[in-house]
Amino acid sequence: MDTSAHLLARTGFDQRIGRRFRTVVLQPTSLCNLDCDYCYLPGRKKRNEILPTVVKAVAASIAEQDGDEPVGVVWHGGEPTALPITTFRARLQPFEDLRIAGRAEHSIQTNATLITEEWCELFRTYRFQVGVSIDGPVGANLNRVDRARRPAFDRIMRGIAVLREQQIPFSVICVVSPQTIADPDALMDFFAGLGCTQVGFKVAGYLAKARTGRKEEWTKAKHDPIPTIAWNGDTVLMSPELLGIGAPQHNDFVVGNVLSQSLPTILRHAHEVPYIAELLDGLDGCEQTCAFWDFCRGAHAGNRYFEHGTFAATETTHCRNTRQALVEAFAATTAATSTKE
Ligand code: SF4
Repeated sequence: MDTSAHLLARTGFDQRIGRRFRTVVLQPTSLCNLDCDYCYLPGRKKRNEILPTVVKAVAASIAEQDGDEPVGVVWHGGEPTALPITTFRARLQPFEDLRIAGRAEHSIQTNATLITEEWCELFRTYRFQVGVSIDGPVGANLNRVDRARRPAFDRIMRGIAVLREQQIPFSVICVVSPQTIADPDALMDFFAGLGCTQVGFKVAGYLAKARTGRKEEWTKAKHDPIPTIAWNGDTVLMSPELLGIGAPQHNDFVVGNVLSQSLPTILRHAHEVPYIAELLDGLDGCEQTCAFWDFCRGAHAGNRYFEHGTFAATETTHCRNTRQALVEAFAATTAATSTKE
């Protein structure tokens, strides 16, 4: 890259993406006990466990980074609770000083099927925010199956019952489909009865800010680079879904390894990564063409690549279902409510 192209890449990156990470996603194990139809994770049948040196390096990266805001340490998967609980507890220890000092906050994204009282005790001790993946009522979860293709819904609900009995607050991440978003009332009724504290429809955060005159806080916020760390320290940026995906032309999206470079160092050079430059073109395209830009800000880097083979693409089926349809459904619900009033 010549000097002017290099400067342009740096400026484009800094306009849209933060160099500081607010969230780091860790893969405690690549193994998942389920085999959902829409799962993208190629290593989900392998039991790779995160190395002790990798968690130490991630904790050191958080300590190295400036800033007062705590970093969210998200234990994602595979299925995080497929890691033996004693190993999981040991992997939390390098973060303890940071957690106690308010510089790191743990969260876990789980399918809930393996939750026990012992896991609840761990969540309490280390103050985890718990997120459960469930897509709505039983009919909305037909894609969630185990390797024998048995439906997982009852096991998810059993895990949720344990969380409730143990009084562990939890939120829900829901993958919306054209079928479920067509009936948002049924979806919201189901989640209202589930006892969760929050459902991961990000539109609510946008509307809250827009209605209180703080829309700029949303529209000016830079994208979190979301470093996502594999069990062996390999690091991808911008989309946890890219981890483990084979793409030789993009070095499998691996931009570095925390065992040889800290995350702040990796991020200082992130504008030089070709797939991120491609994504910046995609974000420019979204801003120029999409009526939903103000709310969406061009999310879901991974889906651009999965659906179109390039990050420079703009609209995807995924963004139509999870962003555009969501805004339209919320707008319709709000309009119906104000008409009744
Ligand atoms: S809704 Fe789709 S096309 Fe519109 S800004 Fe978001 S990602 Fe881009």
